[in-house]
Amino acid sequence: GKRVGQYELKSKLGKGTFGTVYLGKHIPSKNKIAIKMISRQGLRADQQNRLEQEIVCQRSVDSEYVVKLIDVQKTDNNFYLILEYCSGGDLGQFITQNGPVEESIARRWMQHIIEGFKALRAKNIIHRDMKLQNILLTEASTSATLKLADFGMSRFLDDDLAQSWLGTPLYMAPEMFRWKEGYDAKADIWSLGVVFYEILTGEAPFNAKRREEIPHAQKKLKSLPANLSPLCQDLLTRMLSYDPKTRISFEELFEHPFILPPKEDEY
Ligand code: ADP
Ligand code: MG
Ligand code: MG
Repeated sequence: GKRVGQYELKSKLGKGTFGTVYLGKHIPSKNKIAIKMISRQGLRADQQNRLEQEIVCQRSVDSEYVVKLIDVQKTDNNFYLILEYCSGGDLGQFITQNGPVEESIARRWMQHIIEGFKALRAKNIIHRDMKLQNILLTEASTSATLKLADFGMSRFLDDDLAQSWLGTPLYMAPEMFRWKEGYDAKADIWSLGVVFYEILTGEAPFNAKRREEIPHAQKKLKSLPANLSPLCQDLLTRMLSYDPKTRISFEELFEHPFILPPKEDEY
């Protein structure tokens, strides 16, 4: 395949909004890596800016639960982000192929995702594009480790509330549709709540056939599956609180009894 620096491009792994992601090889070590190729042609100034944010944010996080950005290469035509390879693909593919998972698996997966978010919080980063397609698996099985990916919409949260309108409508928090209001890290929690609901049920938590219907549909969520434990239902309900003020915070989320592993002295 094509060579870029010390890397060789192989088969295509996925395609997103700007980038095409390839399986690749670090030639000296023969290690597998993923290569996200972004064409420089027609890249607008704001898109270039966002790419820079993606690089700075992803580089600054160091966690087992966040995909590592290993290297960046630039040629006349393209940017290449060299990423830690996750052979299990993304959660969207996994749920499509295997269907929703049991609560015990969803719990472990949420523990991974939330560990990843702890690392983001430590650097004051909001992700803003949390969805099944942006969470990767280290292997194609329920025992995989999950890793947060795609920092293309992320930024450091300063004192100002963010106001840009971006993300994927299905996962956008209610307050993001009312963009004049501004939104903060709690918008990530809403998106994560949608992810949580999807991995448990294989469906979105509200009924909307078209994106225009989403802001209204978000006001009336589907009822939760009755087979879920009370703690699981409590967490889901609090993550998908319409009002960001009453929505669970990250600090509370990290301590929620559904997420917290049992203390050793409880055995
Ligand atoms: P975009 O910003 O265009 O959405 P992503 O970074 O989300 O690009 O990558 C698009 C898709 O490529 C992902 O949804 C996933 O299926 C696949 N992919 C991305 N990074 C990796 C990786 N490190 N390992 C394996 N697959 C990946
Ligand atoms: Mg993506
Ligand atoms: Mg992206």
